[in-house]
Amino acid sequence: ICKPTKDSHVAILAFPFGTHAAPLLSITRRLATASPTTLFSFFNTSQSNSSLFPSSDLPSNIRVHDVADGVPEGYVFSGRPQEAIELFLVAAPESFRKAISSAENDAGKKVTCLLTDAFFWFASDMAAEMKATWVAFWTAGPNSLSVHLYTDLIRQSAREKDGCMEETLGFISGMEKVRVKDTPEGVVFGNLDSVFSDTLHRMGLALPRANAVFINSFEEIDNTLTNNLKSEFKLYLNIGPLALLSSTSASQSVQEDPHGCLAWIKKQRTASVAYVSFGSVMTPPPGELVAIAEGLESSKVPFIWSLKEKSMVQLPKGFLERTREQGIVVPWVPQVELLKHEATGVFVTHCGWNSVLESVSGGVPMICRPFFGDQRLNGRAVEVVWEIGMTIIDGVFTKDGLEKCLDKVLVQDDGKKMKSNAKKLREQAHQAVSVNGSSVENFKVLLDAVVNILN
Ligand code: UDP
Repeated sequence: ICKPTKDSHVAILAFPFGTHAAPLLSITRRLATASPTTLFSFFNTSQSNSSLFPSSDLPSNIRVHDVADGVPEGYVFSGRPQEAIELFLVAAPESFRKAISSAENDAGKKVTCLLTDAFFWFASDMAAEMKATWVAFWTAGPNSLSVHLYTDLIRQSAREKDGCMEETLGFISGMEKVRVKDTPEGVVFGNLDSVFSDTLHRMGLALPRANAVFINSFEEIDNTLTNNLKSEFKLYLNIGPLALLSSTSASQSVQEDPHGCLAWIKKQRTASVAYVSFGSVMTPPPGELVAIAEGLESSKVPFIWSLKEKSMVQLPKGFLERTREQGIVVPWVPQVELLKHEATGVFVTHCGWNSVLESVSGGVPMICRPFFGDQRLNGRAVEVVWEIGMTIIDGVFTKDGLEKCLDKVLVQDDGKKMKSNAKKLREQAHQAVSVNGSSVENFKVLLDAVVNILN
């Protein structure tokens, strides 16, 4: 039984690191526009909020709240990887509880739905206590969602197979081509007891209890995986690719182009340009940065390289001057727009989910250099499931390896096959977000799940 939506109050709980909060905000905007009588309270750390809200063009039914970042007063960072993430996660249940309760008092409306980053497994109990629904957003792809859902099973199988890294996950429907070594750290290898590994493990156990789980992808990208996840969750909704729904990337609401990349690419030949980027978190080690620069230069391929300002000093001496006519190196590019441009011929990527899906949306084949987390899984899908790209030769950048890969993808027959597969996938992605497309229909179901109050 559904009550009228005007009483509903949705609390959105964002994860303030990497490319997580921005896509959640972009979905919140769409939901808020579609349901103007519902109040949406967006909870995120002040630091992440300040990068998300440079302007104040929010629908009036979205209210933004700061939550604690979990860093104790006077705390000195030791430099451990993921330290800030762990501090945040440990404090998160309490931080969110406090902030929600004060927002409820301010608004005079009890929260009726928790719409959270899927990492927040504790939202399951929180929602039960609050008599609210729980709707979870998995910000990466279906393959990594599947790995976290079946972590216990994968661990058990790895024990039986004596930890063989080449074994495939054939016992999970849709994961037949994935090897143990492709899984993220913290599932079978790496630190299984870290706060982060534990969070993902608990998440996998909790998500089947969520009223709905949704992701930025489209069903047809992998029907077997989609059907299997549909059988595991109460509702499993693919609502993407977000990159095709508006001209926004997952990480920026406006595709700003302060460095003139679009003007530059307009002058290039069809499918000739290599676009190089490793997302918002990762920068390759200095030796690999040099190899990329040397490989690009000797290949003579026109390039756009998104490289953080602080890493530019690592480039070989004279590289920028020598390649002035060949390419540009800038600290930020309008990635979605670049990947949609016909001159882009290949994307050299770390295989973050948003990047991969944006490349699929643009029909651009990829050269993959995954580093950590779900990136190896995404790279594996690119290479052997969809056959729309290849892993960098030897797994790390070398001058010769990059040159050979660029030649393979941009010139050789292998590349033509990748390109044609990528174009087919792009077609399916476009259909999913067209009238009556699967993602459009799923968004309506999501809206219902979020704004209707269940009795
Ligand atoms: N991005 C961009 N311009 C850049 C670099 C990155 O617009 O110069 C965007 C890109 O479009 C994507 C996001 O940043 O939406 C990166 O997300 P992804 O999941 O690929 O990687 P992460 O940042 O989480 O490692």
